[in-house]
Amino acid sequence: MNNATLHTLLNSMGVDLRHYQGTELHSISPVDGTPLASLAANSAAQIDVRISRAQAAFQQWRQVPAPRRGELVRLFGEELRTHKEALGKIVTLEAGKILQEGLGEVQEMIDICDFAVGLSRQLYGLTIASERPGHRMMEQWLPLGVVGVISAFNFPVAVWAWNAALAFVCGDSVIWKPSEKTPLTAIATHALFMKAVARFGSDAPEGLAELIIGGRDAGASMVADPRIKLVSATGSTRMGKQVAAVCAQRLARSILELGGNNAMIVAPSADLEMAVRAITFSAVGTAGQRCTTLRRLCVHDSIYDTLVPRLQKIYAGLPVGSPLEKSTLVGPLIDQAAFDAMQTALATASSEHGKVYGGERVTVSGCEAGYYVRPAIIEMPTQTTSMHHETFAPILYVVRYHDLAQAIEWNNAVPQGLSSAIFTTDMREAETFVSATGSDCGIANVNIGPSGAEIGGAFGGEKDTGGGRESGSDAWKAYMRRATNTFNYSNSLPLAQGISFDI
Ligand code: NAD
Repeated sequence: MNNATLHTLLNSMGVDLRHYQGTELHSISPVDGTPLASLAANSAAQIDVRISRAQAAFQQWRQVPAPRRGELVRLFGEELRTHKEALGKIVTLEAGKILQEGLGEVQEMIDICDFAVGLSRQLYGLTIASERPGHRMMEQWLPLGVVGVISAFNFPVAVWAWNAALAFVCGDSVIWKPSEKTPLTAIATHALFMKAVARFGSDAPEGLAELIIGGRDAGASMVADPRIKLVSATGSTRMGKQVAAVCAQRLARSILELGGNNAMIVAPSADLEMAVRAITFSAVGTAGQRCTTLRRLCVHDSIYDTLVPRLQKIYAGLPVGSPLEKSTLVGPLIDQAAFDAMQTALATASSEHGKVYGGERVTVSGCEAGYYVRPAIIEMPTQTTSMHHETFAPILYVVRYHDLAQAIEWNNAVPQGLSSAIFTTDMREAETFVSATGSDCGIANVNIGPSGAEIGGAFGGEKDTGGGRESGSDAWKAYMRRATNTFNYSNSLPLAQGISFDI
């Protein structure tokens, strides 16, 4: 891997990196530690200008009919299809995901564009029966304003697309502060969007999509700005609590997509072949750096001694290596801090009487400066305190359970509430798991793992995961304001609740 490859890819998308050059922000490839680019962070004055432009753009964009707004998103989807390979590869180079997952991330962007195009003709309101004669009530959804998107390193482009594709058809403008660890993927995505804008024509105002390059401070100044009507922030629970406090102070809306600590229950009747594949993909995919990564496995006592040794054997042979190699299933961690956090978590688990398998650093030839690890499985005596924390690395804690109620209690006992799964062919167990007394997570799956959501459903979780929902179902409503209108077409003025007020 070298910088020439990166520059060729960026050029193919119309990016001229010279416009972004500076000294404040460094994009380092987790593949082999190569510095990819040094960029300028936007100043407070530049951020202010961008927000002003986005606000002016909103004034115009909200007047463009929604199906026409959908056309812009359709064109963007076309650009993504054309450049899928190149953008997927940049995701791999900058975020370290294996190529299949880099491509999958771009496919997810294409999928949400398709969804949003359809949605642009389906922003339905309601007609409501009025209690008064000669009256009609209705509810309509109207554009909201400037939407601020703050994204994390591990889904460097898809998260923006989940928000932006919906926001654009809803009539909003969007300002994006990507992770400081993955600015290049954002610059490339922005360039593709601008290609779509150029093809769309003058209906798309300048400032409709703005990009802010910077670190936490840049994100914080966006969050505090009253011109931003909705803040959609994806990242750690620590970040979400800070963002939530600032939004609450100015009564702004927020969508918070924060940390997960996801469990799977494997019941006695489970199809173990399927369970093994689902566990492995969910626990080691993206090197354990997904918010939906499987982190806790509750295995029924009757199958524990069959399943767990099998997983240990698979883990020992997992191909760990450069994410650019086709055969690799486990790529690098994002950086040294992630590696250190993983080693600390392994040591803590040992001190809690956990038996650790794997977890050691792996040297990959030609990528010696990358932080590669063998995914770890830890057999725990019970669900201990350290298992309540999300360590963003491939660590799978395994506990033995005897009855389903205990396993569900463990599933729900952690602060986070993003995703969860059960493997069972027992209908009673499956229904119990997804019922009101089952999993308390935003996502509860049966016979598939907790990670790898489709865009059609609303995505997000409860408790420390932040409570936000993005992507499919009716998540679009968060990007619009609801207005209730009552029309009186009679010749009198009856008051609601039969109140008499004669003057
Ligand atoms: P992070 O919290 O360090 O950073 C995320 C983003 O927030 C970055 O752009 C950062 O600059 C910005 N930021 C940090 N502090 C801020 C503040 N006070 N105000 C405004 N912006 C601020 O997270 P990360 O390490 O990039 O990502 C990993 C975390 O993200 C994990 O906890 C993971 O579970 C979570 N995540 C959640 C989802 C989800 O949908 N629930 C998706 C992806 C990642």
